[in-house]
Amino acid sequence: MENILITGGAGFIGSKLTLSLIEKGHKVTVLDNLSKQIHGKDYELSPLYNLIKDKVTFIHGDVRNPSDWRKAIPNQHIIVHLAAETGTGQSMYEINKYVEVNISGTSHLLDYMANEPHQIKKVVVASSRAIYGEGKYKCNSDGFVFPKSRSEEDMENGQFEPTCPSCGEIVSLVATDEQSKVSPCSIYGITKYNQEQMVLVACKSLGVDACALRFQNVYGPGQSLSNPYTGILSIFSTRILNNNPINIFEDGLESRDFVYIDDVVDATFLAMFNKNSNATTFNIGSGKSTSVSKVAQSLKEAYKSNIDIQISGSFRIGDIRHNKADISKAKRVLNFEPKVMFEKGISLFSEWVKSQEVQEDNFDQSIQDLKLKGLMK
Ligand code: NAD
Repeated sequence: MENILITGGAGFIGSKLTLSLIEKGHKVTVLDNLSKQIHGKDYELSPLYNLIKDKVTFIHGDVRNPSDWRKAIPNQHIIVHLAAETGTGQSMYEINKYVEVNISGTSHLLDYMANEPHQIKKVVVASSRAIYGEGKYKCNSDGFVFPKSRSEEDMENGQFEPTCPSCGEIVSLVATDEQSKVSPCSIYGITKYNQEQMVLVACKSLGVDACALRFQNVYGPGQSLSNPYTGILSIFSTRILNNNPINIFEDGLESRDFVYIDDVVDATFLAMFNKNSNATTFNIGSGKSTSVSKVAQSLKEAYKSNIDIQISGSFRIGDIRHNKADISKAKRVLNFEPKVMFEKGISLFSEWVKSQEVQEDNFDQSIQDLKLKGLMK
């Protein structure tokens, strides 16, 4: 039995991980600021917080505050650092907040470990696929390439597929491995890369095991249905259940690697206790890409809805086109095997959504925010 600190342990991934660790007999402390965007105006009503609050030592604190880390760290053996600001679009206009929470917040953890006595044996930090930007592609003439962010001009002309940085030809998607070029297209991606590298470099110098998990698009029961800034499955679900049409960006063929929450919890558990995963990074995903149109269509069917699905051609600056993770390293080293494929996952997710109260749909407001900042075309 280990003492485990989970920052952001009241969030989507953190709460599921907390419950699974408690079930296995570990003692969990959670450090979480119960942010309004995730937990609503009154956190006492937050379903995720209520799931864990009586089962853990709960510290209502902020990773930006060194004194909250001082309350949380003593006696911990393993730290899973999940607390973060997580909206890609939002990170483009709340830059200081993203830097403060994601980068500065992590620096306080590492300062504590470097300067105070502690018993920490392992740190697992949540990173993101966002660090790769467009990720890895294959060009018929130039082999494997890492396309640059797509130009506004191309996208305005309906040319959404990434192109080869050498010859300009359209390239085809391949799975992005951990050796791929790091080239974030958002402030969020930049902060996640800083976070993971700070943890890996500092822990190595301190003789503490550490690894970073580069999560793909995580979905499943527990995902916030009221946060319009992140989580495409919940955003679409909330729109459908409010009888609002879905406006799909670009041509609807953009795709993501959707990984089910239970698989992410499994992978995190494996990484926490694996002895061969020191000072390294792992992609955690399903290894498959699914188009956004397919997601919208599948949810519409799951809710037996008649709403319109419109493919608008509009686009967000900084969005990537496709995403598919190469998960062979996590399979080989961690013994990770995703078990819930998309069809099964969407059915589990939609059944859970149906059991929840329908949330207010604030998506239009979030798009308005992006338009006002010139980030949505
Ligand atoms: P979440 O927003 O559901 O949970 C984050 C938790 O952190 C929340 O409970 C929030 O209250 C807390 N938090 C936010 N700011 C804080 C602060 N300043 N101090 C203390 N607590 C704070 O997010 P999630 O989906 O569970 O993601 C967890 C981690 O995984 C994040 O680091 C995120 O960047 C990463 N990640 C998630 C996904 C995904 O698809 N969900 C994908 C890639 C990476």
